[in-house]
Amino acid sequence: MLASSSLPCSLADINEASSYYFLPKNPAPPLPTDQELAVETIRRDFPALHQQINGRPLIWLDNAATTQKPQSVIDAVTHFYSQDNSNVHRGAHTLAKRATDAYEGAREKVMHFIGANSVEEIIFVRSATEAINLVAQSYGRRVVGPGDEIIVSILDHHANIVPWQLLCEEKGATLRVIPVNNNAEIIVEEYEKLLNSKTRFIAIPHVSNSLGTVVPIKIIIDMAHSLGIPVLVDGAQGIPHFKTDVQELGADFYAFSGHKLFGPTGIGVLYGKKSLLEEIPPWQGGGNMIKNVTFEHTTFNSLPNKFEAGTGHIAGAVGLGAAIDYLTDLGLAKIEIYEKDLMAYATETLCNIPKLHLIGTAAHKAAILSFVVQGVPSGRIAEFLDRQGIAVRVGHHCAQPSLRRFGLDSTIRPSIAFYNTFAEIDELVWAIQQSIR
Ligand code: PMP
Repeated sequence: MLASSSLPCSLADINEASSYYFLPKNPAPPLPTDQELAVETIRRDFPALHQQINGRPLIWLDNAATTQKPQSVIDAVTHFYSQDNSNVHRGAHTLAKRATDAYEGAREKVMHFIGANSVEEIIFVRSATEAINLVAQSYGRRVVGPGDEIIVSILDHHANIVPWQLLCEEKGATLRVIPVNNNAEIIVEEYEKLLNSKTRFIAIPHVSNSLGTVVPIKIIIDMAHSLGIPVLVDGAQGIPHFKTDVQELGADFYAFSGHKLFGPTGIGVLYGKKSLLEEIPPWQGGGNMIKNVTFEHTTFNSLPNKFEAGTGHIAGAVGLGAAIDYLTDLGLAKIEIYEKDLMAYATETLCNIPKLHLIGTAAHKAAILSFVVQGVPSGRIAEFLDRQGIAVRVGHHCAQPSLRRFGLDSTIRPSIAFYNTFAEIDELVWAIQQSIR
């Protein structure tokens, strides 16, 4: 239910926003043949997309929650377990060498994919959530003290709020929050006002998972760095959609999950600048992260092993490497162009549905189309969509503050990837219309 009738989410409101570049003045024909053909070919690589749900072809529009996997990723994981399975880094036998090569090869792929300077800057973790907790618990605990401040944004996922909140509670520090305007865009002037001599750290999302806003992370990082403040970017929803170069951005830390990048669950990446990672203590203790252990004193392994205690998700890393190969072959630049057109088309067609309000109308948006329909419970719509084989998410999307900013507890959230088609958007629009009749 809409809490306010003045939400800036109707088509008229959006058209008024001069910077809203997703709505072309003269909309292009919806099905550009060459792009449609390419996508149809690409779709063959994803076995999960070719199934019936409730007697209808699956339309997977829950990509912000997790992405489907190309056959090459599934094959890489299967190959690892059927041929190369071994623990890594320890063991003088052939399979240990093969597994280590595969694991470290995946690390190199990640390094190239995000433009890191060395493999020492790539830490394999469980997920974006674990990456952020690592930074909060290791770096944060070292630099934050009583009276200090940490800045997050109202757009953040709970994974980039709660770890900082826990740290603030432990240290007697304060969490400050960057607000957004009525289009769900970060208000840079307000951010500037929050920066002061007590600010110790900034944690921001690359893309909002609930409202789709692309955050001006370069501007935020540059302003923070001018005061010597480090920045973590939660890239969970950014890296699947944009060519990301951590050195160009200047990010001190960048976190993401493999499963949102067409790779396996249970594997994620923390990128950190080498100088910072060297400076901070390990987070978890155990095997692999040590150089020498005595009961009196333990010395730690060099990077990146210092932050990888115990046996990691070796097959997951291999699968993530295969996902990166797949995306590199497709080309992130092409993906970005295709998704921009698809977003424009989806925005336009959704806005034509009476009483549908898009929540999140930023000028620069990616992949996510949150909406409510006035007078119709979101659960009813989502249930109807599921009966039509259309998978979307409904709820708070683990970003409650961002929805409450717009007076809402819940939205329906279709989220796209490069394998979605214009025809699927038509099906979605048709099904929403049926559900609210
Ligand atoms: N940040 C953002 C922006 C997200 O969208 C998500 C997942 N929805 C996360 C962090 C957490 O990701 P994971 O559950 O894979 O750790």
